[in-house]
Amino acid sequence: MKNEIFLKCDCSSEVLYIEKDEEYKEFYLAIYRNYDLKEDFFRRLKNAIYYLLTGKRYSDQIVLTENKIKELKNYLETNS
Ligand SMILES: [Zn+2]
Repeated sequence: MKNEIFLKCDCSSEVLYIEKDEEYKEFYLAIYRNYDLKEDFFRRLKNAIYYLLTGKRYSDQIVLTENKIKELKNYLETNS
């Protein structure tokens, strides 16, 4: 079973996806567009073309090792 979490952006347009790779002890972070069927046709077409050309529903991905996750965790705890 995948160890993953989806967090919806407060603006509802994106979703932050985080997955932990237990084998490599790394975390994958990606931002997905939150598809909304109420979006206008050209926006949906643009997303569809991007997906067809790249095979990706996200524009970028960040890989963080456990040390960097600890740094991120400290930062979030300190500032929340
Ligand atoms: Zn947003």
